[in-house]
Amino acid sequence: MQVLKFGGTSVASAENIGKSCAIALKALEQGPVVVVVSALGGTTDALINAGRTAAKGTGAYQGILQQLEQRHLKAAQELQLPPASLGTATALIMDAFVELHRLCDGVAALRELSNRTLDRLMSYGELLSSQLVELHFHSLWPDTIWADARQLIRTNSRFGNGEVDVVATQKLVRDFQAQHPGDLWVVPGFIAADAHGTVTTLGRGGSDYTAALLAAALGADKLEIWTDVSGMMTADPRLVRSARPIARISYQEAMELSHFGAKVLYPPTIQPVMQRGIPLWIKNTFAPDDHGTLVEVSPPRTAAVVQGISSIGNLTLLNLEGSGMVGIPGFSKRLFAALARERINVVLITQSSSEHSICVGVNAPDAALAQVAVDEEFAHEIAAGRIEPLRPEQDLAIVALVGENMKDHPGISGKLFGALGQNGVNIRAIAQGASEKNISTVIRAADVRKAINVLHEAFFEATVKQVNLFILGPGNVGSKLLEQLARQQQHLLEKLGLQVRVVAIASSQHCLVNDEGLDLTAWPEALAAAPAQTLAEFTQLIIGRNLRNSIFVDVTANPAAAGIYADLLAKSVAVVACNKVAASSEYALYARLKNLSKEFNASYLFETNVGAALPIIGTLNDLTRSGDVVRRMEAVLSGTLNFVFNNYDGTRPFADVVRQAQAEGYTEPDPRLDLSGSDVARKILILAREAGEVMEMADIEIETFLPPACLEGDVEAFYTQMAAHEAHFRGLYEAATAAGKRLKFVARYAEGCAAVGLQAVAPGHDLYDLRGKDNVVLFNTDRYVDQPLVVKGAGAGAEVTASGVFADIVRAARL
Ligand code: ADP
Ligand code: ASP
Ligand code: MG
Repeated sequence: MQVLKFGGTSVASAENIGKSCAIALKALEQGPVVVVVSALGGTTDALINAGRTAAKGTGAYQGILQQLEQRHLKAAQELQLPPASLGTATALIMDAFVELHRLCDGVAALRELSNRTLDRLMSYGELLSSQLVELHFHSLWPDTIWADARQLIRTNSRFGNGEVDVVATQKLVRDFQAQHPGDLWVVPGFIAADAHGTVTTLGRGGSDYTAALLAAALGADKLEIWTDVSGMMTADPRLVRSARPIARISYQEAMELSHFGAKVLYPPTIQPVMQRGIPLWIKNTFAPDDHGTLVEVSPPRTAAVVQGISSIGNLTLLNLEGSGMVGIPGFSKRLFAALARERINVVLITQSSSEHSICVGVNAPDAALAQVAVDEEFAHEIAAGRIEPLRPEQDLAIVALVGENMKDHPGISGKLFGALGQNGVNIRAIAQGASEKNISTVIRAADVRKAINVLHEAFFEATVKQVNLFILGPGNVGSKLLEQLARQQQHLLEKLGLQVRVVAIASSQHCLVNDEGLDLTAWPEALAAAPAQTLAEFTQLIIGRNLRNSIFVDVTANPAAAGIYADLLAKSVAVVACNKVAASSEYALYARLKNLSKEFNASYLFETNVGAALPIIGTLNDLTRSGDVVRRMEAVLSGTLNFVFNNYDGTRPFADVVRQAQAEGYTEPDPRLDLSGSDVARKILILAREAGEVMEMADIEIETFLPPACLEGDVEAFYTQMAAHEAHFRGLYEAATAAGKRLKFVARYAEGCAAVGLQAVAPGHDLYDLRGKDNVVLFNTDRYVDQPLVVKGAGAGAEVTASGVFADIVRAARL
């Protein structure tokens, strides 16, 4: 004997019923078959909806029922039944709906929907589907009978979730079998009856359980649950795209996964088949050749330590706390007794070893009743101030790792907490059974999708880490960055196991978003057509998306953009900034961002703030982290100024050379920042801070070489004034040349002081031979005393700067 259960989708339409039927007919080749069916997919929800709508006293339930009736009639029509059977089916459906209308009319009149009536309403779903399926089977396999589950499965009278009387059920099933030796039964799932013959149900999803009860009572060779996915999967496929079917799993593990939310199997299903060692298969009606999942006593050991991850939403934590609990026995007993009296199911328990608090998780709808019950139980202690009134904490969920092999593997919890922590998922409570089959964490419901994906990645896809980028400012550097990302996506995946996706690109005018990652070859057109978004909205978008491994990339020079870093870091979103404003504004902000980065485990990287892609800050960090102390720094840090002084020889006006630097993309968007020395001052300030100095911009001495008139007015006035002062620039150049020296704009730091200014450098000096737009930094430290540590190379230009941002992104992603 084999028991095959077909779920709602598998019988949702005539076409699907045909598929299920083919599967059952094939099974018949191996012996008798019991087919258990759910209602046509969505029917139970619709019936509940009709009942609840009726209870509100509106007539809208009639429309719901009419639609449902049409759907059933259509399915009957399309099943191509023989005419007599079609007549029977049509009459059954119409009779059922007359009854359903009558029931709902009654509910509407009373404005009350009892669980008993609801069970009655819902029962029509399975009654109709099973009779339709039976008629269809009958036309293909004459030896088919319809077996009424109300005469086979006996429960108590707890409507909505009947408790099965296993002994009585077994007897009913065996008696039925003795009287009906046919080799194909079709049975409605989900429904049963109490001792008075009143219809009850087994709880939502209960058809699986019906099938298991029948399999156990009949001593079946196997139970097959046919559904719309190819087995029990490593995580809910609706939440985790890369979830994959588990080929073989133990009863215990399957039970844990289903208890913790894997909807594919109704939790009570396992018990009856486990007791008798009946193998349980989960198979896909729409891909019957897929292996599916075999649930058995002891599956072969695989390398997988964690078998699956699942979640239960809608959880409320109840925290019982108070100094009056310490060391006094009986508190837990009273707590649980109070909950049990109200028939409240406790989903999770934790207690601190100080015995100062006990925390229980209950389903949210039970929380209010639980609070009243517990506060009543401890009224005396609460009045005496020995216990606090119960504190419910809402909008929570459980995410659980399941796997029997976890007990032999240290470090699983560490990996779990690490992965969640790095993504800003706060853990409210933890429970681990001593059997270590399950580690449960309670987190915010809003974090579930992210948490499950992060954990799935950590435990099942160790080789691939998804990284989600939010890019602000697709200008010069930004577009180069996007080009480089597009070119390197495959490389990152293959070599570093990073799946880098750009989720959003925002300019000051438009914001383009795609949760699945933007197409990086066609973004400019799409961005131009995208709507506008404020910076605040963009921040909310990043935080609201709550995607794992999120990185905000600021490729603007916009002071306002720097204002959002703190909010992002506090949500564990990493920040990669090409924008220097934050790191060079007041020290308090810089320090705050650094601290947030540490506190929330989110990178804050800004290597390109100094010297484009040159590893200047990285080198400095390596030195200080390894205990070295920076004593002196001397540097040429402006690609623009270097370009200008290397190219200016008096044959062409100074202003023209500056214009060329701007045209070639070396300058800041506002070239006055470079020429005035402010940009260099910001850079040495950042280096001094990274070297450990508490310093403000005002502490830096800026010796400008520009005549004051150049700094009045706008950018065009700036160029005009430079042209007017050509003699001044020529004078500077000629004086230096006459002394055999070269002009360099130099930044210096020593002993807590920093200054920037134009300097005539003699041959032989480290700064003398600096070509084009190169930057150089000389570090004198406790280790580098006689000869400085030198970092030198191209320090400006969109392409190199973008590559520096890219490197920071990879650094943040690999943290
Ligand atoms: P049926 O109507 O066939 O009983 P259900 O909708 O009750 O089907 O259960 C199957 C669904 O369970 C799948 O479509 C899937 O979306 C969901 N599901 C949730 N968690 C898991 C999991 N871990 N493995 C497989 N499916 C899961
Ligand atoms: N039809 C019922 C439900 O939707 C039972 C089932 O499908 O298993 O809950
Ligand atoms: Mg189901």
